[in-house]
Amino acid sequence: MTNKIKELLQSGIIGTCVDVKGWIRTKRVSKQVMFLSMHDGSCQRSLQVVMDPSLISEQLLTQLGTGASIAVSGNLVASQGKSQAVELQANQLTLLGSAPDYPLQPKAHSLEFLRELSHLRFRTNTFGAVFRIRHAVSYAIHHFFHQRSFIYLHTPIITAVDAEGAGEMFRVTTLDPLHPPRNSDGSIDFRVDFFKKSTNLTVSGQLAAEAAAMGLGSVYTFGPTFRAENSNTARHLAEFWMVEPEVAFNELPDNIVLAEDFLKFLLDYILKNCQEELACLHQRSIGNNGNPKHGIQQMPLMDRLNFVLQQPFARVSYTEAIAILMDAPPNKNGSFTYPVTRWGMDLQSEHERYLVEHHFKRPVVVTDYPRDIKAFYMRQNDDENTVAAMDILFPGVGEIIGGSQREERIDYLRQAMQRTNIQQEDLNWYLDTRRFGTIPHSGFGLGLERFVLFATGMENIRDVIPFPRTPGHVAC
Ligand code: ATP
Ligand code: MN
Repeated sequence: MTNKIKELLQSGIIGTCVDVKGWIRTKRVSKQVMFLSMHDGSCQRSLQVVMDPSLISEQLLTQLGTGASIAVSGNLVASQGKSQAVELQANQLTLLGSAPDYPLQPKAHSLEFLRELSHLRFRTNTFGAVFRIRHAVSYAIHHFFHQRSFIYLHTPIITAVDAEGAGEMFRVTTLDPLHPPRNSDGSIDFRVDFFKKSTNLTVSGQLAAEAAAMGLGSVYTFGPTFRAENSNTARHLAEFWMVEPEVAFNELPDNIVLAEDFLKFLLDYILKNCQEELACLHQRSIGNNGNPKHGIQQMPLMDRLNFVLQQPFARVSYTEAIAILMDAPPNKNGSFTYPVTRWGMDLQSEHERYLVEHHFKRPVVVTDYPRDIKAFYMRQNDDENTVAAMDILFPGVGEIIGGSQREERIDYLRQAMQRTNIQQEDLNWYLDTRRFGTIPHSGFGLGLERFVLFATGMENIRDVIPFPRTPGHVAC
């Protein structure tokens, strides 16, 4: 049986015979002794293997380079070195796969270079840490909702609803793109397509989750989401994972409390369970940043995570936020790319980050946005100009959560659909949820990658998903 490095380093008993399989990170050889540092993905740390080089052939010795895979047997012994408590005194070593010309040498490569080799970057320390944290966050998400008796709901990936994503959806079709069947007016005849209607990849599981919440009470979805928006930024992917709780009888304030509890639970979970991974990324963040006194975004990673965990999130209405931004020095001296000029405009990422990093100096919940810049399903406030929306803004990231109390009054919902040109026939099933026993309810969407971006201190969203899809880019 193969032993995992994680178990050997945690609770390995000195003197036991062990078998380990993994990849070589580094090799150092002298006449009497060879040191290999090897990893197997089970934990952040590597295992030091010590061996008498005369036990293996000259040829094998030269093949033991960075990236090569090996199987090693020997005894676990107390280490002479001070960087590890135990090491493997090897008496047998087999080469599983050599790696001549392996492109990732044991030195710091740029993240851009590694992005070109997304299939190999799992082997680096940095990406090992990122993807183990991504796993831990995903696990903690299920844990959080399960312990609160939410039902995990699998919502469709292929959808016939295009109400939400106008213009931003990927089409799903089996029609021949060269010879599509046409109607007499020249438009494509989707009645002969696979589903007998036009279909797309989902941009959100929310509408389906709402239907489920009105029967199951508290539900959440957690799945892939697709957006064909041409946003080539460090925070947008064309394919990303979203977590969407939807809760019967929750009103906006309950929704905000749930979201804050949720984010803090996830942070607390990784601080407790991913210490080695965070230590590795923390070291990186110290290398990258200057003086911690300059604000949250300049804090080393662990300080930043602990800081956010301990602060109550600030709360501000959109109207107050606009007033703050209009008055802000970067707005007055022209350093915002998008000047803040009037009530009613959407907030850009630079505005969101100003509120978080410079004004409030902690995460911010912005509520009650103008009706006309938000989706049709958000509940209209009594002022008739704003809706019961809430966005949560995080340092370095901007919007991490978008949510709202939903419009449960069918007349208001119909009017909102009319205003936004959504055909009632297409959403008759959705209107049924308001026809039969309608209730107040609320929910939100958390972009998994935006959270992992914050949690790892990485700066580009392409570095926290295994195989990123962005405009013009779909490598593996
Ligand atoms: P943004 O304004 O940043 O483009 P949005 O308002 O379009 O986001 P929502 O529709 O509210 O996003 O989606 C809910 C959450 O999903 C967002 O708060 C964010 O965390 C995440 N998200 C949205 N779009 C993307 C994307 N293209 N890539 C990664 N995550 C995303
Ligand atoms: Mn949003």
